[in-house]
Amino acid sequence: MDSNSPMHIVLFPFMSKGHTIPILHLARLLLLRTGITVTIFTTHTNSPFIRQFLGDIQQSLISIIELEFPSNIPELPLGVESTDHLPSMSLFVPFADATKLMQPYFERSLNSLSTSGGVSCIISDGFLYWTQPSAEKFGIPRLVFYGMNNYAITICRVLAMDRSHLRLGPDEPFTVPGFPWIKLTLNDFEPVFNGSETEGPHFEFVLKTAIATGKSQGVVVNSLYELESAFVDYYNREFVPKAWCVGPFCLAEAPKFDQPREIPDWMKWLNQKSAEGRSVLYVAFGSQAEITQEQLREMAIGLERSKVSFLWVVKSKGEVLEELEEKVKGRGLLVREWVDQVEILRHESVNGFMSHCGWNSTLESICESVPILAWPMMAEQHLNARLVGDELGVGLRILASNGSVRGFVGAETVEKMVKELMEGEEGKKVRRKVKEVGEAARKAMEEGGSSWRSLDQLINETCR
Ligand code: UDP
Repeated sequence: MDSNSPMHIVLFPFMSKGHTIPILHLARLLLLRTGITVTIFTTHTNSPFIRQFLGDIQQSLISIIELEFPSNIPELPLGVESTDHLPSMSLFVPFADATKLMQPYFERSLNSLSTSGGVSCIISDGFLYWTQPSAEKFGIPRLVFYGMNNYAITICRVLAMDRSHLRLGPDEPFTVPGFPWIKLTLNDFEPVFNGSETEGPHFEFVLKTAIATGKSQGVVVNSLYELESAFVDYYNREFVPKAWCVGPFCLAEAPKFDQPREIPDWMKWLNQKSAEGRSVLYVAFGSQAEITQEQLREMAIGLERSKVSFLWVVKSKGEVLEELEEKVKGRGLLVREWVDQVEILRHESVNGFMSHCGWNSTLESICESVPILAWPMMAEQHLNARLVGDELGVGLRILASNGSVRGFVGAETVEKMVKELMEGEEGKKVRRKVKEVGEAARKAMEEGGSSWRSLDQLINETCR
């Protein structure tokens, strides 16, 4: 990169924590390069989280522009500006589509940025498909951030063309063309990603994002080449626009805070657990998962019976959790507030992560060399679980009681799999492997590593 030419990169994350956090890490990574300034677009309500997350970053290098989120959408509750606060994920498409109403304000801001120094490129979330025509209008290259890995992106694109799997039953295994070793089932996908849903609002939305991505300059992937080289190579040979592996973003340096922070209770509890060595299972299912009361009960019973120490960050409510809290006092801790997940995974007491396999959580676990007990819930998480269990060998997969990848999981399975991960032979195997892969991830992000070089190339080749 030519350090003499100052660059100004606009970042526009989608309004959910899982999509915003990696973009904020990316902002840090970009600012490690000399001569780059960054502007982040967001909404009023999401802005405080972003400002806090960026912590110590110099104000001269980063600006935040707050847009008005549309308040007149009948389907959406007033004041909700993030999918994390939607009463149900069934409102996802109306929410995502509503963001388009910010387009005139976005363009007005782009116009003033363009006249005051210019914009070198825009990196916006794939869900914000309408930023593509805006970028074109101002002649600014746009890159797309999807928050998915190459494995999932590639498989979904392959299956969108080869439709032979559609005649199979939901749990019948099939091989993905081009990848003879991969066996999947229709149940590993949301219908909109395996080609079986071809109409309706969700399909229309995915189509709009795909068309806009097709017109962009490239896809920025939060992953490293070494993790999934077969998929990166295949994608870049068969499809456009180019996919750039420039992660894992979570390895960007964490923010530093001026004020000493009060130690949260969960940290005190983890510190106490250090006396027992690496004994704690961290349990969390991200910010979006909707878990039924019946399933929560089985999780709770399984965790209790496993006799393993656990820290469960739980977004759900229910009597069953209060009962569990009583029963496992000392051995288990339930936390209902926002935690610093990376800090937990980095803690010396933590030895396993029961996770929904959101891609950020998966990468964070790998980077901290913590093996995963994969329990996917929605979106592309089932594919991530396959990647974790079958492809990388950094975790074990929980299957439903009927053997399917989707469905109800009984307490006995929870108990058995928790014990296996924390104490069993399979657990030892995946623990060894996750250390190897974690090491590769750290190397990729060092100066001169594959992701570092790839980010430099991306800036050189796509930014004006
Ligand atoms: N996260 C966190 N604290 C919480 C809940 C979530 O720090 O209490 C972070 C987590 O570390 C990750 C992101 O939020 O970076 C969640 O993203 P992911 O892709 O794992 O799941 P999603 O929430 O999008 O389903």
